[in-house]
Amino acid sequence: MSIRVDTEYLIIGAGFSGLAMAWKLKQSSEDDFLIYERAAGLGGTWRANTYPGCACDVPAHVYSYSFEQKPDWTHLFARQQELLEYLEEVADKYHLYEHLRYNEAVNELRYCKEQHIWRAKTAEGGVLTARYVIAAPGPLATPAFPKISGREEFEGVMFHSAEWRHDVDLTEKRVAVIGTGASAIQFIPEIADKVARLTVFQRTASWVIPRDEKKFSDREKKWFRQRPGLVRTLRRWLYGRLEMRAIGFVRHPRVLKIYEWLSKWNLRKQVKDPVLREKLTPKFRFGCKRILLSTEYYPAMALETTDVETGGIEKIVSDGIITTDGRKIDVDIIILGTGFRATEPMPEIAVYGTREQELHREWARDGPAAYYGACMNGYPNLFMLLGPNTGLGHNSVVYMAEAQVEGIYRILNAAKAQGKNTVHIKGTAQTEFNKTVQDRLAHSVWQRGGCSSWYQTASGKNVTLWPDYTFRFKRELAALPFDAFEFSNPASKAEG
Ligand code: NAP
Repeated sequence: MSIRVDTEYLIIGAGFSGLAMAWKLKQSSEDDFLIYERAAGLGGTWRANTYPGCACDVPAHVYSYSFEQKPDWTHLFARQQELLEYLEEVADKYHLYEHLRYNEAVNELRYCKEQHIWRAKTAEGGVLTARYVIAAPGPLATPAFPKISGREEFEGVMFHSAEWRHDVDLTEKRVAVIGTGASAIQFIPEIADKVARLTVFQRTASWVIPRDEKKFSDREKKWFRQRPGLVRTLRRWLYGRLEMRAIGFVRHPRVLKIYEWLSKWNLRKQVKDPVLREKLTPKFRFGCKRILLSTEYYPAMALETTDVETGGIEKIVSDGIITTDGRKIDVDIIILGTGFRATEPMPEIAVYGTREQELHREWARDGPAAYYGACMNGYPNLFMLLGPNTGLGHNSVVYMAEAQVEGIYRILNAAKAQGKNTVHIKGTAQTEFNKTVQDRLAHSVWQRGGCSSWYQTASGKNVTLWPDYTFRFKRELAALPFDAFEFSNPASKAEG
């Protein structure tokens, strides 16, 4: 007999990965689960990010579930609203809404070692017990705010791209954008011709290649709806094309030269001013930082009303920004396109394991690490989706999340088949796995390409990316060796 819990499975987060886990449970006739979501609706990053121009930079036919292929995407690169609607349709179709609880921000997870269950606390003071916890908070969910002095002095409006203020009218305003990453390059073209003056603070120029945009016509959408095989073929083709890039990123960085050439050609074509062109030319190898896709970004940077500042920011004052060379730039609005706390998985949840050790303190020593980004020694029955080293520079993370979901469920099933209800990754298996990952990463363009990026911790360790083909990740997860885990049934012993 095992200890009673409020729910057998607690899923934290209702984004792409959390919903994939919920789908798997539902398909497996497991109905005793809850999804706690801190926001007022599902969708994760695709609910939070509503900035103008927000779209996925991975083709929609790949950046979607294998079990729910949508035939009628309006664009090859789906827009935020369409992705959100897709997730809502999935939740509806597979009856996941009844398991969803909104405005429930889990901020503490504690493993109760007597009962071998997890106790989750929420910001509102709620408490819930669960046998298994699947944390799917999203790798890019917590905005990073730059440590620039004087931020609180600013009397204008300041907001982060992930918390876009739609109530603020940018028309004819003096606007500063800090950051030129994947989000900024999407919203800059949308706002550049509306504002009176746009000052873009660029710390590092990134490689930008044209987005081979495609809007599907009604006729094409009809074809896809009538021929599901066509959608599957397109998905396979797009997947294969993206997967090829892993060859350059991980094995033979030289092949990336062709992209460097393409990106430089694009820059030459779109930016005629040699001074601006020089500012926008990356000084590191292609692929070292995330590759940006845009056809509109360079023209927006080349507008008469756009200034590109590369000298750095000294401080923010009440009505502007002081540059490191002492100039003051007057601004009404500051938009922070400064990204997310990507190297700190689930920073807002304190997690206490078998010895009451706290996960983030352990990770602070040597950087976040897990077994296939999912299991952590010292934290039985806790699984993470899209945890450490599962991010990609070349393909769809939805594929990675689905692979993890299948792998986790297989392990749980194996334990259950043996009459066990506790699954714990062995420390040796986790250490060995991470050594292999770091050894593979050492030769990658992300580590050797001459840049520092949000893929890395302050010490330079890459804790975010999977350094291989995604099909290998999936294949390895589908065949995880059971002896990497300890299966036990301590709860019945405790009661016994
Ligand atoms: P990001 O790529 O991390 O870019 C942050 C930008 O802010 C960088 O240009 C960075 O400069 C700059 N920055 C950070 N701190 C700064 C400071 N103190 N002073 C000046 N500049 C500073 O963030 P993001 O653009 O929000 O994108 C994050 C990730 O979200 C992406 O890489 C991507 O994975 C995801 N995303 C995905 C999509 C999609 O379509 N799938 C769309 C948007 C975002 P440095 O380069 O010098 O660090």
